[in-house]
Amino acid sequence: MIQITMPLNFLGTVYREIRQALVDMGDMFHLLDQPAEVVDRAGAAPLKVEGASITLEDVRFAYDAERPILKGVSLSVPAGRTLALVGPSGGGKSTIGRLLFRFYDVTGGAIRIDGQDVRDVTQSSLHDAIGVVPQDTVLFNDSIRYNIAYGRDGATQAEVEEAARAAQIHEFVMSLPEGYDTQVGERGLKLSGGEKQRVGIARTLLKDPPILLLDEATSALDTQTETEIQTALARAGQGRTVITIAHRLSTIADADRIVVLDAGEVAEQGTHAQLLAKQGRYWQLWQRQASEEAA
Ligand code: ADP
Ligand code: MG
Repeated sequence: MIQITMPLNFLGTVYREIRQALVDMGDMFHLLDQPAEVVDRAGAAPLKVEGASITLEDVRFAYDAERPILKGVSLSVPAGRTLALVGPSGGGKSTIGRLLFRFYDVTGGAIRIDGQDVRDVTQSSLHDAIGVVPQDTVLFNDSIRYNIAYGRDGATQAEVEEAARAAQIHEFVMSLPEGYDTQVGERGLKLSGGEKQRVGIARTLLKDPPILLLDEATSALDTQTETEIQTALARAGQGRTVITIAHRLSTIADADRIVVLDAGEVAEQGTHAQLLAKQGRYWQLWQRQASEEAA
């Protein structure tokens, strides 16, 4: 996969990037399963972020040539706004996240950030610009401090705490006898799903990316945890361009725009109020979730 002719320091960079990407992505992308077919184009320049607006123009994509997954998806997220992607499982929501990160190249159309095609910029600059809060945050067998500080080289204790506060996890950490020195992971303290997710949010806040990609946990969290995570995510999203892949519609009702993706196509888009008034696909999904939650 990696050519042996590359200089060693470059290998070191690649290794660190893969490790970072793995941590960032958690289970979302299964990086190691994927062919390393995407490379920087000759003369690729770093991404120049202005406000981090994102556009998908007639995006087409297939993992296997015979089975199209995205069939001409167009959407845009203005700088600093939040877009929620909703719709039935298998519709292509997570695939859009992978394409934005350029784990694969589109087979038709284009994805642009502030007007720059993601295929024309260096992957390292692209990855620096996007923070991912995955469904499952991978923890290192190390201290909580290390796990948060991983978001940025050389982060100070004060910066770690500030990120932890914003991620609604600081008080929990302070309640542990060893505080930020508490060992977590396989051989340490087992954190709950909600705690792990907040560590992941703190890590991403330290990275301070202009774009945030959130893949909401599918598993039900208790109401208290859910509220804490929603608060943390709302803080994390301030001043950033956010794409949220949502399973529970109640969490995205105030997104600036909601896109219903169904079988690789945009079925509807609008605000929560507009889409409910339409009584179409979104309205159906909303009715179904409301009755499921009541049951
Ligand atoms: P969603 O997030 O909306 O549930 P995904 O984007 O994860 O949908 O998946 C869209 C479709 O692509 C699904 O049918 C899924 O089985 C398929 N798919 C996802 N990842 C791969 C892969 N690595 N190889 C082949 N097919 C895949
Ligand atoms: Mg998904």
